[in-house]
Amino acid sequence: MRKILVTGGAGYIGSHACKELSRAGYLPVSFDNLSNGHKKAVKWGPLIIGNINNSNQLNKVFTKYKPLAVMHFAGCISVGESEIRPSKYYKNNVKGTLSLLNVMKKFSVKYMVYSSSGAVYGKTKKNPIKETAIKKPTNPYGWSKLISEKMILKFSDICGIKFAILRYFNASGADKLLDIGECHKPETHLIPLVLKAALKKNNSIKIFGNNYKTKDGTCIRDYIHVSDLAKAHVLSLNKIIKDKKSFHLNLGTGKGYSVKEIIDLAKKITNKEIKVNIFPRRKGDIPEMIADSKKAKRILNWKIKNSDIKTILETAWNWHKKQI
Ligand code: UDP
Repeated sequence: MRKILVTGGAGYIGSHACKELSRAGYLPVSFDNLSNGHKKAVKWGPLIIGNINNSNQLNKVFTKYKPLAVMHFAGCISVGESEIRPSKYYKNNVKGTLSLLNVMKKFSVKYMVYSSSGAVYGKTKKNPIKETAIKKPTNPYGWSKLISEKMILKFSDICGIKFAILRYFNASGADKLLDIGECHKPETHLIPLVLKAALKKNNSIKIFGNNYKTKDGTCIRDYIHVSDLAKAHVLSLNKIIKDKKSFHLNLGTGKGYSVKEIIDLAKKITNKEIKVNIFPRRKGDIPEMIADSKKAKRILNWKIKNSDIKTILETAWNWHKKQI
């Protein structure tokens, strides 16, 4: 069976990718330090507990499993935290990717699918955002992803690694069978926080800024279901193996929802009262981010199946209810 090393395989998007890899006939080998991931999310292959910044640990895994390719998810993910603790982001996301690339080079592993982000674009003039848009991140998280992308490009030049750099917009929702879902500690993302507020009496949600130049003053994001993202990863892997050509893709739905709209929809779906408090803007936030994913649909024949906002919220709600 072809083995794929999945860094961050115990995490939210990584674990959904493992499920999809397994369905496609690969063996996902998860490598995770469990700082954000969970042992119980690793269900479709072995889990090796380790740190991507530790090349000895990586060497051992590459020696034992001889992976055909790497899917690289391990890293820090919170825009707000990256403003406060930038070195954590550069160490885990940039240095960690470099460490992984060096080991891939040493073991001649030729394929990489990289978990990048729409945050590499920063504040763009136009929405939806195409892959060719100017990249000017507004926070250390976005920079850490963009610098990592550049390193992957260089390694591709010097040692022939073929890559798929996937820039996702807002990953959300949960596996429909509820095998896995989103579980960050602490949680910083909007949808899980809104649903957690709905679950607990007297809990409220903060809106970070209601004076943006958007339709209702709150930020607009493009929410894409995590299972649709997982599918795009496997399609990308298959494509780079088959065609031996690298590419960058934006992954989103092309549709945006404001923070207020998400809260209102969550109230309807959960049938719960959710208290709202207005807070100042969060540093580094961008008013509106919507993906143009035509390229992904064209070159991968990617079909978005689970990303209407109702399905996203319902699957996430079912998952969160199951956790209590
Ligand atoms: N947001 C918010 N309250 C929260 C968490 C997030 O108002 O408790 C806003 C945040 O400022 C952003 C949007 O919701 O405009 C999506 O944020 P999230 O952290 O989920 O994802 P990001 O787009 O930062 O990757």
